[in-house]
Amino acid sequence: AGHKETLSFQTEVSQLLHLMIHALYSNKEIFLRELVSNAADACDKLRFEALADDALLEGQGELEIQVEFDKAARTVTIRDNGIGMSREEVIENIGTIAKSGTKEFFSRLTGDQAKDAHLIGQFGVGFYSAFIVAERVELTTRRAGMGPEHGVRWVSEGTGEYSIETVEAPHRGTEIVLHLKADEDEFLDGYRLRHIITRYSDHIPLPIHMRAFDDKGEPGDEWETVNKANALWARSRNEIKDEEYREFYKHVAHDFEDPLAWTHNRVEGRQEYTTLLYIPKRAPFDLWDRDRRHGIKLYVRRVFIMDDAEQLMPAYLRFVRGVVDSSDLPLNVSREILQNNRLIDGMRAGSVKKVLGLLEELAKDKPEDYQAFWSAFGQVMKEGPAEDYANRAQVAGLLRFASTHTGEATQNVSLADYIGRMKEGQKAIYYITADSHAAAAHSPHLEVFRKHGVEVLLLSDRVDEWLMSHLTEFDGKPFKSVSKGALDLGELESEADKQAAESAEKEAGDVVARLKAALGEKVEDVRVSHRLTDSPACIVLNEHDMALYMQQLLRQAGQ
Ligand code: ADP
Ligand code: MG
Repeated sequence: AGHKETLSFQTEVSQLLHLMIHALYSNKEIFLRELVSNAADACDKLRFEALADDALLEGQGELEIQVEFDKAARTVTIRDNGIGMSREEVIENIGTIAKSGTKEFFSRLTGDQAKDAHLIGQFGVGFYSAFIVAERVELTTRRAGMGPEHGVRWVSEGTGEYSIETVEAPHRGTEIVLHLKADEDEFLDGYRLRHIITRYSDHIPLPIHMRAFDDKGEPGDEWETVNKANALWARSRNEIKDEEYREFYKHVAHDFEDPLAWTHNRVEGRQEYTTLLYIPKRAPFDLWDRDRRHGIKLYVRRVFIMDDAEQLMPAYLRFVRGVVDSSDLPLNVSREILQNNRLIDGMRAGSVKKVLGLLEELAKDKPEDYQAFWSAFGQVMKEGPAEDYANRAQVAGLLRFASTHTGEATQNVSLADYIGRMKEGQKAIYYITADSHAAAAHSPHLEVFRKHGVEVLLLSDRVDEWLMSHLTEFDGKPFKSVSKGALDLGELESEADKQAAESAEKEAGDVVARLKAALGEKVEDVRVSHRLTDSPACIVLNEHDMALYMQQLLRQAGQ
C-alpha cells in the first residue's frame, strides 16, 4: 500500500450526505439499485472503450455484477468487472459534486424533509445513498488497462472526510463493501437482497450474480444469476409491466422519480431498430448545461455502444431519455462514423416522430400531465421550430402560450385553441412580446384588441422573439405582432369605427404637426393611432424592426 492521504469532502458533499440520509431513510433499500446501476454503467463504459482498444478487456470480456453478504462481518458487497477508476477519478467522481446546478440545488433546499427529499431525488443521489445503511464504506477499484499496482482504496464514514491510498488490486473493476449500521441487519439476508434486485434491477442487461444457497440454506460456493439479465426493450410490449418500464427509466436517466410517459417501438422495413424513449417528469438541474449527460444510449443488437449519442436527438428534445437499438449498424461503430451516417439519420428522424407523437397523445389524453411537461420543458421545446424545419408544424401544434383569453401567466393556450376562438373576419394570429408577462399583459397595444374582443398571445420568455422569427404561420394563418407595423384589423372594424377614426385624425392634425416638430429626428413618424382606447400615446416599431425588447437585449450585450 502506498501514498495514503485523508481528504475532506467538498462542503456540499457533507451537507448533501447528511440531508440525504434523513430524507431518504424511508426508502433506504434503493442504495442497492444505485450501486448496481453504477456497476452496470461501469461495464457499459468498459465495453465502449474496448471498441477502440481490445486490450482493456484483459482477456475477460464477460462482464458481470456480483452481490454478496457476510453475516459475521455484517457487510454487503457489490462488485463489478467494469471500467474501474484511477486515483484521480475516484477523487473527482466520489469526493466532489462536479454537477452543474449544484449551487441552484442548495439554494432551493428548504429544511422541510418531504420537499427536500424530492429535490435530492431530482438532483441525483447515486453513490452516496450507500451511507443511508452503511456506517463505513470501503471502495477498492482498478482502472481497466492499468497494472495491478495501481489499485485504489477509498474509505469513508460519510462524515466530513475520506481516506485514499494506492493498493495492489489483481482484478479490474470496482468493489464496494458496506459495513452496515447497527439496525440494518435486514440486508444480511439472501432472500431480502434477491427481492430488492428483482424489484429494482431486474432489467439490468448484465447478469447480477449472487451465491446460490447451499443445503444448509447458507450462501454456498456456486454463483447464480438473480436478475432477468436481458434487454428490456427487446421484449415485446405486452410482456413488460409498467413497473419494469419505470425502473428501467431510473437506471438510464439517473433519475430518482418515475417518468411522465414513454414510447416503445420496434421499427421494421428498410431499417430495423427498436426505440424506448422516455419523457421525464421534471427538468434536471443541468437542463441548460451544454455538457449535459445521460441522453440516449445507443445499442447495436443489444450490445451497448455509447451513452449520450447526441446524433440521435435534436437539441430541443434534449430532455428525452432512453435507448435506441439498431439491427443494421456494425458493432464496431465509432463516434466519427455516427457523424454522417444515413442509418443514424433515419433512426433520428424516426425517434423524433415517436417523441412528437407521444407528446401529442399526452396533450390529448392527459392534459394535466401535458401541462406539467410544458412547465418543465416548454422553453426548450420553443427552440424546436428554429431547429427542426421538417417538423415545424407539428412542433408548433405542441406549443402553449399565455393569452389575453385567460389573462393568466400560465402557458396553456395552444394555437389550435386560439384559431378556434378567432373572430369572424379575423385573418391573423396576434401576439405581443415583452420582457415580462406583466409588461405584455398591460401593454397599451392591446387596448384596441380588447375593445374588439380579439385574443392576443402574450409572449415573455427569453426564447420567444427567436421562436416568432421562425414561425410565420400556423394552419394557414399568419402570425402578426400587435406592436409592429401598421395596424389593420380589416373586417374586424365596423364602418362606424372607421369613420370615427378618420374624423379623429382630422381633429388631431394640429397636434401631430406640433409633436413632429418637437420630436424631430428622434422619431420616424407621428401618427394618430387607432390602437389605443385609454392610453394617450404609444411607441410602435416598423414591421421589420426588431422588437424593443430584443433591442434592449442586444444593447445589454454591448452590440
Ligand atoms: P451518476 O451515476 O449519476 O454519475 P453516482 O453518484 O451514482 O452518479 O456516481 C458518481 C460517479 O462515480 C459515476 O459517474 C462514476 O464516474 C463513478 N462511479 C460510481 N460507481 C462506479 C463503479 N462501480 N465503477 C466505476 N465508476 C463508478
Ligand atoms: Mg449512479
